[in-house]
Amino acid sequence: MCFDVEKIRHDFPMLSQSVYGRPLVYLDSGATAQKPQCVIDTVNRLHSTMNANIHRGVHYFSDRMTALYEEAREKVRRFIGAASREEIIFTSGATASLNLVAYAWCEKFLHEGDNILVSEIEHHSNIVPWQQAALRKGAELRVLPVDDEGALRLDLLGELIDARTRVVAVTQASNTLGTRPDLPTIVEAAHAVGAITVVDGCQGVVHGGVDVAALGCDFYAFSGHKLYAPTGIGVLYGRREVLESMPPFLSGGDMVDKVSFERTTFAPLPLRFEAGTSNFIGAVGLGEAISYVESLDAEAVMSHEQTLLEYATERLLSIDGLRIYGTTANKAPIISFTIDGCDHYDIGMILDKTGVAIRTGHHCAEPVMHRFGVNGMCRASFGLYNTTADVDALVAGVQRAVRMLK
Ligand SMILES: *Cc1c(COP(=O)(O)O)cnc(C)c1O
Repeated sequence: MCFDVEKIRHDFPMLSQSVYGRPLVYLDSGATAQKPQCVIDTVNRLHSTMNANIHRGVHYFSDRMTALYEEAREKVRRFIGAASREEIIFTSGATASLNLVAYAWCEKFLHEGDNILVSEIEHHSNIVPWQQAALRKGAELRVLPVDDEGALRLDLLGELIDARTRVVAVTQASNTLGTRPDLPTIVEAAHAVGAITVVDGCQGVVHGGVDVAALGCDFYAFSGHKLYAPTGIGVLYGRREVLESMPPFLSGGDMVDKVSFERTTFAPLPLRFEAGTSNFIGAVGLGEAISYVESLDAEAVMSHEQTLLEYATERLLSIDGLRIYGTTANKAPIISFTIDGCDHYDIGMILDKTGVAIRTGHHCAEPVMHRFGVNGMCRASFGLYNTTADVDALVAGVQRAVRMLK
């Protein structure tokens, strides 16, 4: 297998779009990734030739669709290294996955006086559900801070994790700083006091993947749409015994065994946590996206993205007054920056007019903005289809913005 980025770009029809008469330079894959034609075709084909609800009908297409849905579950299982298919729950996305744990697990196991530890660099989706659970239960939300490079202060773990810590929720890779926390150390510290570990894999699963069994975390959440799959489909991995100990979250169709007005019994895993009609076509689309990613040389993709990160870092730093946030070694291919005297939003607007799409603002991680004393940043994030020409367009656009704004 070899990695030919020009060939890969042909697989993504969005990348041949133009904006204001300029070719699109898409540097916002951290917000959502573009989809390869095979994923788009799969979703279209299923809607036109295979659509029928799963797990219900005895009829032909219901049966076929159910088989495809369960095949997709198996693909996800293999992709993230889970031990069994019962541990893979399809959700609408990472936010839904994290809320599922924050409601169902905390409902039973979080008590007044307990505490939950999150890191300072979490996405809002890995902060607010825990904050809400803590409020409901009278528990405390604790925060593991980062240093000036954006690395987690693991030296403080011993102080912040104690016998009343029930949950440690942390990202595999920060969507603003790119930081990849030392997860094995965090998982070990949490398990030493009997806390569960919840890993937000949204960025990590895309840039390097995961082996959840080797990592030993209790939960792992990610969204399909950042992994080149459709929107509206996501995954919650849960260790079987932890999932089995949890009460159901959403209830209704599909998650039950027997229902009467006196008493309802629930379906076994994983369906117990998949109430209602799930996004079954999206799940098959996610399976197709995984197959696409697996058809490429993972090492080559990583090294391609790393090359882009290094090249972009070097070129951006040559711009006067530009500061990059998140400077840890081995970071994910995400660059957040500000420029002295220029508003992040204005830079984004000017870049947009040159066809370059970046993210501006707080990136759903306001505490990171507070930590570094800014009210917003510009962010360029790379996917496997980006090129050094994209970086050149970014740098030219930023230089132009600086000339206009200063
Ligand atoms: C995007 C993202 C989320 C939220 O994902 P949704 O798809 O919006 O549910 C959570 N954490 C990280 C690190 C993200 O990048």
